[in-house]
Amino acid sequence: ATPTALLVGTGRGSQLGILIRGPQVLEATRRIDTVLLDKTGTVTTGTMRVTAVLPAEGEDADAVLRAAAVAESGSEHPIARAVVAAGAVDSAGTDPANRPESFASTAGLGVQALVDGVLVLVGRPVWLRDAWSVTVPESLSTAATEAETAGRTTVAVAWDGRVRGLVVVADTVAPGAAEAVRRLQELGLDTVLLTGDAAGVAQRVAAEVGITQVTAGVRPEDKYRIVTELQAAGRTVAMVGDGVNDAAALAASDLGIAMGTGTDAAVEAADITLVRADLRAAVDAVRLSRRTLRTIR
Ligand code: ADP
Ligand code: MG
Repeated sequence: ATPTALLVGTGRGSQLGILIRGPQVLEATRRIDTVLLDKTGTVTTGTMRVTAVLPAEGEDADAVLRAAAVAESGSEHPIARAVVAAGAVDSAGTDPANRPESFASTAGLGVQALVDGVLVLVGRPVWLRDAWSVTVPESLSTAATEAETAGRTTVAVAWDGRVRGLVVVADTVAPGAAEAVRRLQELGLDTVLLTGDAAGVAQRVAAEVGITQVTAGVRPEDKYRIVTELQAAGRTVAMVGDGVNDAAALAASDLGIAMGTGTDAAVEAADITLVRADLRAAVDAVRLSRRTLRTIR
């Protein structure tokens, strides 16, 4: 392989909005047979909006939303941005009344923050159950399942040992995502949707873009493990993602592709960054590498 041809390919990539870390990346791209796609922010736009706040019995919806919004004001997650916007909390955190006294987030699971002296949790119901021993009451779990079947994501809000309500958020499939998936499949690549979100939501999004293989409810370390297991089974794996929760999987994959709108952690772990955050550019990257390497032969 002549370095010149690879360099030309890399240069052509940047014209297409595909930032390639080095010429050798094109070689890896050509060998890919499996593409793992993160859901939120990769297959979907990642611009979420709150569609409902469901208070638990005896709770007030506004109080649930406000506590969640203050707790989320320190997070960059698409869910956090939606909750902050809906709660009309100043996202810059300049208003001290809207700033939590302390804040921590657990990638792919949720956030915990001290709001007016009370520890508020916002996140995946399984995380609240397993890590904090608080469970979603029966009266809300039916609503949660319904929302998830409709393709909506639900997060639970808890304080003082009880789930106080659910926040339902909606996302939309990114324009071009279905086309990108179809073109990846036409190139003979296996496509898999990989998400920390609930199975119902994942199935709905997968159906919309034409993906049949879905792995849902995974934690960041599971995404990493799935990459290495596929590699051990002889697959050459590309991973496309945008979040902190994708960084380990992006780094472990044979080809890590980050959405340009994604977090710094994702971009730093990746071999390729898609400037315009359009999944179709991932297809362009595969085609570019094949063309470049054919020229070399
Ligand atoms: P994906 O794998 O689709 O990109 P993530 O791994 O980022 O999704 O998130 C998985 C799940 O973790 C979300 O559906 C949500 O339930 C929960 N979660 C992650 N971050 C947050 C947050 N800041 N606030 C509330 N929930 C969160
Ligand atoms: Mg994501």
